[in-house]
Amino acid sequence: MTEYLTTIGLEFHAELKTKTKIFCSCPTDAGGEPNTHVCPVCLGLPGVLPVLNRHAVELAVMAGLALNCQIAEYSKFDRKNYFYPDLPKGYQVTQYPMPICHDGYIDLPLADGAVRHVRINRIHLEEDAGKLVHSGEHIQDSHYSLPDYNRAAVPLIEIVTEPDITSAEEARNFGESLRLILLYAGVSDVRMEQGSLRCDVNISVRPADSAALGVKVEIKNLNSFRSVYRAIQYEEQRQRELLAGGGSVVQETRLWDEASGETRAMRSKEDAHDYRYFPEPDLVPVVIDAAWLAEIAEKLPELPAARQQRFESELGLSHYDAGQLVISPPLARFFDAVYTLFPEAKTVANWLLGDISRLLNESDAELDAVPLDASEFAYLLSEVKKGAINQASAKTVLEEMFRQGGKAAEIIAAHGFAQISDSGALQAQVEQVLIANAQPVADYRAGKKAALGFLVGQVMKQTRGQANPAMVRELLEKALESEN
Ligand SMILES: [Zn+2]
Repeated sequence: MTEYLTTIGLEFHAELKTKTKIFCSCPTDAGGEPNTHVCPVCLGLPGVLPVLNRHAVELAVMAGLALNCQIAEYSKFDRKNYFYPDLPKGYQVTQYPMPICHDGYIDLPLADGAVRHVRINRIHLEEDAGKLVHSGEHIQDSHYSLPDYNRAAVPLIEIVTEPDITSAEEARNFGESLRLILLYAGVSDVRMEQGSLRCDVNISVRPADSAALGVKVEIKNLNSFRSVYRAIQYEEQRQRELLAGGGSVVQETRLWDEASGETRAMRSKEDAHDYRYFPEPDLVPVVIDAAWLAEIAEKLPELPAARQQRFESELGLSHYDAGQLVISPPLARFFDAVYTLFPEAKTVANWLLGDISRLLNESDAELDAVPLDASEFAYLLSEVKKGAINQASAKTVLEEMFRQGGKAAEIIAAHGFAQISDSGALQAQVEQVLIANAQPVADYRAGKKAALGFLVGQVMKQTRGQANPAMVRELLEKALESEN
């Protein structure tokens, strides 16, 4: 059996989180009525001139810094020419020989503890195309298509890796890491299912004893990292079987069909010269001087790897807990906000990954979209620690704050949750329980220590759960021992 090696490079398109489009002041909001977020500039009407959105440049640079890239001091725009109805000008404004960022990388941790150094060739800034809306259920039996240019000229970055990835699993992990980095850096919403992050795969297979790379196939139409994983597995197998059977792979673009779990041929792959790139004459070059670069670098937030590292080595969280927090930026931010006020990392993490994650799952919400306030939650934890309220009541208070907001102290008071930690008051309750439960008392004194749990339960019941259970246990033990 011949051994085969797989070589994979990935291309990502991420929509930048700007309020307006890249060369005009139309809004970038998705979901408006078709062709309502358009103007003569993004429709490419004759005689108009584009003006570059400064914020788009800053976000592209931010992405470059977050992905360890070199930032070009001088970059420029080019026209990529092709005809398709979703492209109103007949060309896309993009960057070809001089992209804004180049030579970056992500160090990807592998399952065996090693690290895969995946190089990023370049990041360029460009405009998105519009969308075609097809009549009917399926494109196959559609009678006509209408263009919607709301998305035309929304700013994008295209991130291109070197072919350093060797398996479907690595590709998926790389995609998830990249997505999280862009999310933390605040450059894009990175929602794959909504198309604000898109991924294309370039894949080739070659016999292990061959030095030259195999023929490359591009796979498009991947709208989740699960699809990326499945498509690579399918395509890897298809190419191996072709080669093993004496056939050869054709250089082409293939579409992933989620339903059938197959890729199918779409068109032969274009080469760069097919697009007749030439310099965009209507835009001046982009110059990023040291001062502007420093200003952008200053705004770069803490990235996932650094946050994970800090949670583990400074706060003493386990690798697993830290990872679970970091994977959700709102959860990680909330953790930091609570920890500043209640600096017991493990306790805060347990509540966040336990009860709060459960509430989030039940309501299918993100933590930054619910009314729970970090300082009120920190107050609740300090009340639990002081013994002023028990765990069970604290969970009820948390649920109420999670759903309706409000102040912990007021909710505790409204429910009468303040825990009885006054030993005088508890002593009276303990004595009543001892009198009313002669048999368990006798059992305990006869050596059946398990009877203590029952008696604690009786006091808790009598105080409607408000007694401090540790104090109850202590008072009961004292009473039972002394009268023995
Ligand atoms: Zn416009």
